[in-house]
Amino acid sequence: MKEIVLLGSTGSIGTQVLEVARLHNITVKALSAGSNIKLLEEQARDFLPEYVCVADESKYLELKKSVSDIPVKVLCGKKGICELAALPCDSTVNAVVGMAGFVPTLTAINAGNNVALANKETLVVGGEIITAAAKEKGVRLLPIDSEHSAIFQSLMGSMGNKLKRIILTASGGPFRGYTKERLANVTKEQALKHPNWSMGAKITIDSATMMNKGLELIEAVWLFGASAEQVEIVVHPQSILHSAVEFEDGSVIGQLGMPDMRIPIQLALTYPKRFNSPAKPLSLTDIGCLTFEKPDDRVFPCMDLARYALKKGGNMPCIMNKANEVAVRLFLEDRIRFFEISEKIRWAMENVSFSKELTPEIILDTEKETENRIV
Ligand code: NDP
Ligand code: MG
Repeated sequence: MKEIVLLGSTGSIGTQVLEVARLHNITVKALSAGSNIKLLEEQARDFLPEYVCVADESKYLELKKSVSDIPVKVLCGKKGICELAALPCDSTVNAVVGMAGFVPTLTAINAGNNVALANKETLVVGGEIITAAAKEKGVRLLPIDSEHSAIFQSLMGSMGNKLKRIILTASGGPFRGYTKERLANVTKEQALKHPNWSMGAKITIDSATMMNKGLELIEAVWLFGASAEQVEIVVHPQSILHSAVEFEDGSVIGQLGMPDMRIPIQLALTYPKRFNSPAKPLSLTDIGCLTFEKPDDRVFPCMDLARYALKKGGNMPCIMNKANEVAVRLFLEDRIRFFEISEKIRWAMENVSFSKELTPEIILDTEKETENRIV
């Protein structure tokens, strides 16, 4: 019987984690949300955790009142989320969106917990700190992101042989094949329609700009100790091959399956065991053909921005990440156009104070400065 703490339970990944938990009798010790206390309350009644926490402190009293008839401790704010992250459990599952997930991940690791990580921004802003802390504490970082789960699974049988190359697949998003001119006029509604996956708004926009693949490149580098040059991004519109690894002898091992996040979520929770899943079985004959193409870096500049950020090191990936979070928010609020997202990020990378040194404090200062300077 496993026990988890789930941060970000009200989101797209969070609700699917709860589905998997219910299916396999995994105990949910604690749940947290950003501000959606209505769903958090429902989840608390369903799963009867010991703790619930809402990040938005103004919702604390309302939440406390709404669950006053069930035996649950109620916390709030960043401090409350970190308290949850550090509770003893088999795995802290981080399904928070954005770099708000960084400190909770670090806190969970420092408390000696294994982490099942959906929050890729954690590794983008502080991969060096996170992987060093995980090594020092001897805890596991299990990826939930489907590509990284695929790479992880492809390496399971490597018998200590080093990987030569990572093939990181990308669906290409809703604007695959677009020219720069066509991209200039796309709308929020179009950007929010992902062809293969149903996800939270932020990652859906990241998929449309291809920044998601830039973030995932950095995530892969930290998780698997590869260099940026070893990671090839390949557009694969069917999202069936979730990523692959090439070894010295030219053998390529990949993981295939239907595009259903419950598969990688479940493995991160039950590792190293595999259990039955409600995901639809893959029928290759129904799919018929799998196609692959090169990404277009001229139309989608965010992948190059990520490569540059990684090369520059220090707080540059953090500047890039936060600028992206702010720009995506502005786009979702109809305050900037689609192509301005990458322009804002580039501007921030050229103008926010660079630091080669990286500490958790520098990450938080960089977050503030980036937020304040983008207009
Ligand atoms: P959602 O926006 O659907 O959910 C985000 C969760 O985080 C919600 O529970 C939300 O609460 C909570 N949250 C938001 N802001 C804060 C905050 N400041 N502090 C604490 N909690 C907060 O996102 P997704 O589930 O789509 O994505 C979660 C993470 O997983 C992201 O890093 C994403 O890149 C990654 N991921 C997602 C995939 C997917 O299929 N969705 C696939 C692969 C990776 P509330 O509901 O109250 O706002
Ligand atoms: Mg992914």
